[in-house]
Amino acid sequence: MARITLETLRHSYVEKPGSDVDWALASLDLEWTDGGAYALLGPSGCGKTTLLNIISGLLRPTEGRVLFDGTDVTDKDPVDRHVAQVFQFPVVYDTMSVFDNLAFPLRNRGVAEPAVRERVTEVARMLELDGLLARRASGLSADGKQKISLGRGLVRSDVNVVMFDEPLTVIDPHLKWVLRSKLKEVHQRFGNTMIYVTHDQTEALTFADQVVVMLGGRVVQIGTPVDLFEAPRHTFVGHFIGSPGMNILPCAVDAGKVVFDGETVALDSPPRAVPAGTLELGVRPEFVRFAPDGIAVEVVKVDDLGRHQVVEVRRGAHAIKLIAAEGEAIPSERPRIAFDPRRARVYADGWMVEGGASR
Ligand code: ADP
Ligand code: MG
Repeated sequence: MARITLETLRHSYVEKPGSDVDWALASLDLEWTDGGAYALLGPSGCGKTTLLNIISGLLRPTEGRVLFDGTDVTDKDPVDRHVAQVFQFPVVYDTMSVFDNLAFPLRNRGVAEPAVRERVTEVARMLELDGLLARRASGLSADGKQKISLGRGLVRSDVNVVMFDEPLTVIDPHLKWVLRSKLKEVHQRFGNTMIYVTHDQTEALTFADQVVVMLGGRVVQIGTPVDLFEAPRHTFVGHFIGSPGMNILPCAVDAGKVVFDGETVALDSPPRAVPAGTLELGVRPEFVRFAPDGIAVEVVKVDDLGRHQVVEVRRGAHAIKLIAAEGEAIPSERPRIAFDPRRARVYADGWMVEGGASR
């Protein structure tokens, strides 16, 4: 296994990149520790696959370096990097048996047959393919084939990193959940460095200890699922992660006070000075509550989800969502809301503004 360092990495598919849009990866510095479980999360087109292909060596970055355990591998071939990559769609040899498919990466590297058998059996058992080992791969469903692909990614014990590129796309929703838990289990058991790419927040947050959130070829935040929830560094992280996502409301900062729609909003750490750029107040629905001394609103909609209720309120033209406890009475007469001063933050041009203590 290895520590992976990405140093001022940039990539463009265009011959002579000029403006920002020409860069699939704008500029990236990152360090992944040995043995960690990481997720790379971001919308389609943000550069996730490009980044994986640069790490595996299928693609040479336009600028910057890739290091494994401090050694520069930027110019090394994929085979010399000892990386396992599982693609979005299954890659299997249809004419071979399930066993031979799983054994392929090992036999290819000259692993002795008894060791091949041992390892294939172990991985097959984990992925619940053990009853199918003698079957030809061609007879399997899409789910079954993708399990083989996953197995081939996991079968080698000499790899620096195992990378999964949206591997559950073709998998049935129920099985998705099962396989995701399996991969987590495999990580805990084998302790490999794993990078799991997805555009699905649930997949990222359940799999990874650390999530790298990407947007438009840039990393917007790296953190634990709790960090991303409690302190989104960017409104995109606030909005993309969470269900429903963070409320993002226009605001102003005036003489140390944060003002939303004419009302002063108390924050534990308001900006020290007036930040440059478009200012917004970000607060997650979990940190908004009904409060008799709060900001007057109208209740628009209540969705009872069992565990809790999602309430949509309106203040002038602004919709705000809040989460109320199961069974909590929703005020019908002159409802007012308040934001948790520890969890509401000011954002300037999308980026969180570091505050100064107000007291
Ligand atoms: P993701 O995996 O996050 O969906 P990609 O890394 O595939 O994103 O793509 C990032 C950007 O690079 C997109 O704008 C995409 O259109 C572009 N891109 C990806 N592959 C190629 C390619 N082979 N040639 C030209 N442009 C590409
Ligand atoms: Mg992709």
